[in-house]
Amino acid sequence: MKKIILCLIILMLSVPACMADELRLDKEIPYQKKIMATGFRLLNANNLDKRMTFYYCNEKDVNAKIYSISKKICIYKGLIPFIDSDDELAAIISHEIAHGLDLHEGLLRRMAMNLRPVKYEKKADQTAVDLMVNAGYNPLALIVILNKVTGEPCFATSRSNGTKRLAVIYEYIYNKYPAYLVYNDYRENLYYQNFLLTSKHERAQIRQKYLENNIKPVADREN
Ligand SMILES: [Zn+2]
Repeated sequence: MKKIILCLIILMLSVPACMADELRLDKEIPYQKKIMATGFRLLNANNLDKRMTFYYCNEKDVNAKIYSISKKICIYKGLIPFIDSDDELAAIISHEIAHGLDLHEGLLRRMAMNLRPVKYEKKADQTAVDLMVNAGYNPLALIVILNKVTGEPCFATSRSNGTKRLAVIYEYIYNKYPAYLVYNDYRENLYYQNFLLTSKHERAQIRQKYLENNIKPVADREN
């Protein structure tokens, strides 16, 4: 009898929680639609014939991920408050699509990704820049969104993080798509300005490297 009463109490307590969940879900439909449309636009514009799907996921972490078998891309609820534009959302999804392209290469590639995470993170960032440009998004948004959510690496983690990671993306754009730096839509952006401030040393090294090779990209006008 006690068990039955206990079950009834649990049931009564859980019903409002379920309803609240459904109501929240209803409010979140626009997020799902936006994420889905952005993902498929990136696939179509880049002529990518690999199957991937795009989901808004009810997780609190500030993160996004791709499932290695199903190739489902998940943008976590915890990341949503950090995204300020379509370009920034496209940046996150592009990075996950880039991982998806590697995952589609099969088991050996998947093992390589686990063994050398830093290498494949860098590759995903650079592929993300290409995917964004081809789909009409501003690739500097990848730097902008990462500047908001990426901390400095701690010695215990092998993940490429922090200013160094952002500087590598910057160099890729500097070299391959300098027009985005010359006509920089993000010049007044708070988070881009913070990137410029925190990456002075790294960007000076990049400039030096290109000058030594007698390459003076138009992007130098930014500095
Ligand atoms: Zn990644």
